[in-house]
This record gives sequence, structure tokens and C-alpha cells, in this order.
Amino acid sequence: MERLVRSCYKQGGYQFAKKATDIAREYGIERVARLASNENPSPPSPAVIAAAEAALHQVNRYPDERVGLLTSALETRYGKYPFVTGVGMDGVIETLLRTLVEPGETVAISTPTFSFYRLAALAQGAGVVTVPRRDDFSVDPDALVRAARTAKCTVLCSPNNPTGNATPIEDVIQVLEGIEGILFLDNAYVEFSETDYLPLTKKYENLVIGRTFSKVYALAGLRIGYAFVPAWLQPFYLRAGTPFTVNSVSCAAAAAALADTGRVAGFVSQVKRWRKRYTDEVKYPVLPSDANFVMVDVAPRTGDEMVELLARRGVIVRSCRSFSGLPDHYIRVSVGDDWENELFVQEINSL
Ligand code: PMP
Repeated sequence: MERLVRSCYKQGGYQFAKKATDIAREYGIERVARLASNENPSPPSPAVIAAAEAALHQVNRYPDERVGLLTSALETRYGKYPFVTGVGMDGVIETLLRTLVEPGETVAISTPTFSFYRLAALAQGAGVVTVPRRDDFSVDPDALVRAARTAKCTVLCSPNNPTGNATPIEDVIQVLEGIEGILFLDNAYVEFSETDYLPLTKKYENLVIGRTFSKVYALAGLRIGYAFVPAWLQPFYLRAGTPFTVNSVSCAAAAAALADTGRVAGFVSQVKRWRKRYTDEVKYPVLPSDANFVMVDVAPRTGDEMVELLARRGVIVRSCRSFSGLPDHYIRVSVGDDWENELFVQEINSL
């Protein structure tokens, strides 16, 4: 019966990190440091949990299709923009590509990067063009424009997962001005970075900036993301999404989390402190990062070997092997709680 499945789903899917519970069981370890998924290590604040709980009492009703509560919280935080929301930024990416891409059209992706763009583009029947970064993982805007000029959608992640670096604003402008289609700028890690592309949305009609509540806002499990879109695109995006896409509990929690500025600032400073400590203390080369993770060059070991060695020592990190276009000697390590980060530094340095 498998012949009935679309061919794009027969080529493997998203690579998930190893589960902490599996590692704990496999190696008999009590406390596992979870540094593979770039999450916030702390649960949401009591105010956020209370907002989600209050929303739970009304889940017999469908959510507000206009996502009013979250939209007004976003407006309070950022000012008036056309916002759209999705089931995580993954959901935003999927709906955006569904809105734009006809089968056979091109989606250009600056690589190495987050793998879901490719999967989502293939699911729309798109032809995917990958545009490699330079050896230092910076984006070559000339090369990107050359390869992506006629693409329906070009995807650029900044700060980039897994390399951690942000693309300078002037390079993004060059891309926006050089391409005929949309630039989807994945800004999942913006809160940890000094580079803010938001002012560009006032000038460029072909820019979409995607954001998420999964990282600094500590709501990865509630699957809620959003994007700044040009006004002309918003009604079509809404048409392409499923009715009532985002649930009322996630929206209530996200709205409350936006107001939780103290917690956000606390995690951002934890991340900045540990990016520096990783760089100073890990004996392998650590790449500069604008995100809540760093990429580490573990040569002559492979990323897979290092992940296995660290897992046995109770530390889960991510091998970069699955990021197509990267050599196989990198791992990606999130900033977690102090004890997790300390355990990682101690264990990797012992190898
Ligand atoms: N974009 C990037 C660059 C990511 O790293 C991730 C999550 N790992 C996502 C999007 C997806 O985020 P969400 O949890 O909001 O779907």
C-alpha cells in the first residue's frame, strides 16, 4: 500500500534529538543535560501558566480565528504590523510556502541550515535550490541573488541554525533588492542577537520575518510562532491556513509570555555569559554565535562520535551531520542551566 504515499514523504523526515529519558535508561544516568534543541531550560513563569490555565477553562469553544489576544499583545510589544501566527514557526513556514508556491516553482535556501525548509518546500512540490554559504558560513549575497533571483521564495536563517552567525543588514537588503520573490527571514533566535531586521518591513514588500515562542519565551511545547508579513500577503496567508490554526491555550500563554520581560532578559544574559564561557573554556574551537547555542568543531572526531561519547556521560548535544552541506565534524550545543553547561564543558574537555 505504500505506493499510495507521495514520493516526497518516502525520503526520510525531520531528525529529532535523542530523548533524555532514553539516554537516562540506556546508560543508567539520573540527571541528563539537555543541550540539543535550543530550548529555554526553565519552565514558563507562574503568570504564563495561570494565563494558559484560564484559557483551558474555555476550550469547549473554538479559538478566536482573528487571534485577537495574541495580536494585541504583539502590537503592544512591537507596534502595529500585519502579524500572522502558526503552529510553531514550523507551522508558519508550512503555511507561507502553501500560500506562495505552485508545484514546480523554486524555493531557494541558503545552506547549511535548519532542515525543515527543504521538507516543507518539497511537500509543496517545489524545486529546491540550495545556495552554499562561504567557508566561514557567512552569506555571499551576490551568489544568493544569482541563484535565487527568480525563485518564488528565498529562505535565509539569521542567526543561522546551526552555525550561529547573523547576516549583516546590508547583505539582507542586497538580497531583498536583487530577488523577484519573497525573502523568508527566519528570526527564531533574534532575542539573543544584536541584529534587528524589523525596520526593513516598513520598506520592503517582499520580506517576511518569522519568529517563535519556542526559544526565549520557553513555550516550545505549546507550538506557537508568528511572522511579520507585508499587508498584501496577510489575507492570502490566512486563506491558506487551516481554520482555527493556533489553539487558545497557546495564544493565551504566548500573550502573557510577551509581558514577561524580566524573565526574557534573564535568559538572554545567561546565554551571553555562557557563549563566552563556552568559547573560553571548551578545548575545541567554538564558532562565534548570536544565538542560544554554539557550533563546536570537534575534529578529528565526527559529530556523531562526539554525540555518542557525551550521551554516555549524560549530556545530549546535536550532531550537525544531518545539516546538509556541513562537514561531519561539528556539534551544536545549546545554553542550558548552569549545571548542564558546566557538565558539558567538563565532559567534552575530558575527551
Ligand atoms: N527555525 C529555526 C531556525 C529553528 O531552529 C527552529 C526550531 N528548532 C524553528 C524554526 C522551529 O521553531 P518552532 O518550535 O517555533 O516550530
